[in-house]
This record gives sequence, C-alpha cells and structure tokens, in this order.
Amino acid sequence: MKKFAFLLTLTLFFMTGCKSKDYSLPHFELGEYKIFTLCDNLHEGNSQILITASDELVKKCLPNGFSSEINAFLVQNKKHNILIDSGLGNNLLQNLDSLNVKSEQIDIILITHCHGDHIGGLVKDGQKVFNNATIYLSQVEFDYWSKQNNQLFDEVAKLYENNIKTFNPNNINNIKEELIENIFPIATYGHTPGHTSFLLKEREEQILIWGDITHVTDVQFQNPEIAVTYDVDPVQAVQTRKEIFDFVQKNDIVIAGMHILSPAIGKIVLDENNKYNYINFE
Ligand SMILES: [Zn+2]
Repeated sequence: MKKFAFLLTLTLFFMTGCKSKDYSLPHFELGEYKIFTLCDNLHEGNSQILITASDELVKKCLPNGFSSEINAFLVQNKKHNILIDSGLGNNLLQNLDSLNVKSEQIDIILITHCHGDHIGGLVKDGQKVFNNATIYLSQVEFDYWSKQNNQLFDEVAKLYENNIKTFNPNNINNIKEELIENIFPIATYGHTPGHTSFLLKEREEQILIWGDITHVTDVQFQNPEIAVTYDVDPVQAVQTRKEIFDFVQKNDIVIAGMHILSPAIGKIVLDENNKYNYINFE
C-alpha cells in the first residue's frame, strides 16, 4: 500500500531553512522501497527565470512571489542505498546522517543532469564524498558536459573517473530496459541535452523521480509552455514537459521533483478546464 509518513530523526535543520522544522524527513513507500526527500536548500524564487511568461500571468500565479527548493532523493531497499542527484551539498550529509546512512553506504548514484544544484554534493573540499558508489549518467549528458569546460563537472568526472557508468535511457513510448533492478531511466531531454528521469516500478506501483521537469510549481503545471532561462533547449524542454505530464497523469504515476517544495512527492490531476494541477502529498 502507498503510505506517506514522517520519520522522526534527531537532526536539527536550522542551517538549511528547509521545511523539516519538526526534525523529520518526509518519505514515501512503494513496495519494499522507501523514498526519502532530502531538502538541500530552500530559497526565495526569482520569477525572472520564466521565459515568455507575461507580467499578468506571473502576477496571477505568483501574487506573493514563490519559494523554491533544491532536493535530492534517497531510494532505499534491503539491498541498496540509491541516491538520486546530490543537491548542492549544503545539507546532504546531515540529511543522510539523520537517516543513519553514512556516505560510504551509498552504493548507487543516479544523476538526472549535471547542473551544480544536482552534482554539487558529490564533491567536498576537492575530495569525492561517496567512496563506494557507482555513478550512473546518460551518455548524452556525459558527452555534452565533457565539452563545456565546466569546473565542477570536470572535477566530478576526474574524482569518480573509474566509477562513472554511462547509459542510454529509454524512450518514453518504449520503456523496457532496466538500469538497475526495478529502475528504468527515461530520456527527458531539453532542460539539458541528456536530462534523464528515473521510473521506479514495483508490480503495479510506480514513481517517477523526474529531476527538473518543472522549476516553478505554481506556473508550469498549469502552463507547461513556459520555459526557464536555465533550459539549454527551451523548445525541447517544453515538449518534454507536456509529454511527461500526459504520461504520468494517464498512467497514475506518483512524481518526485527536485524543485518542488517538500515533501516534493505527489500527483498530477487534470482539472475541469483540462489544465494540470499538482497535489503535494502531505
Ligand atoms: Zn536544478
């Protein structure tokens, strides 16, 4: 059964500003898996990132501005501690510690894309943070960043040189190849050239940990045609967002997003005007 719960932990989060003021980390259960939201940062959002959104639309959707989060997720079962993205690295280790997971116990890291708010937590003081992990990254994403002269990516690529595996994600219309047991990578290109979402499937239950399919919840669910300045290919990002919304809504798939406010795990529903709405699980 699907169950949303709050696990009591002992860690204080006053440095983070994240929503977990009750010293708990939200988690979602899917079969034998637990998916924990690791809030790495909470900050005031900037509506200037919204490309082609009119002032009217911004005022209507964001009358009081908006807050934004940076999240990673921990997917845990009896065999694995799987980290999906790493945030900036502000609170990652404290969050894992609060779950009694040491960095050396992380054995698999799945990366949606290589922006700093997704891979920053892989490195600390010039050292690798996860000594026993294999990092999985789409081949397209790896190739793109290898040519960008990006300091952080180059550092990650060098430090984890022997522990990075690349793969080719599934097309959304033909999802058949597992990357690891029960986890299917799906090509969700656009935000970055090799942006990838990860579908965890166990029997009939599914959750899509989707990375940066959205950045501003109160704008982009109802208006998926609005792109953001960070999109490497805004046109493709918009097309991908529409496809993914349609896919998760039709297949009743739970979603988890890196820039949705905690718990950042929820569902998409269609309203009477045929617009998408996001419902965060409580
Ligand atoms: Zn991001």
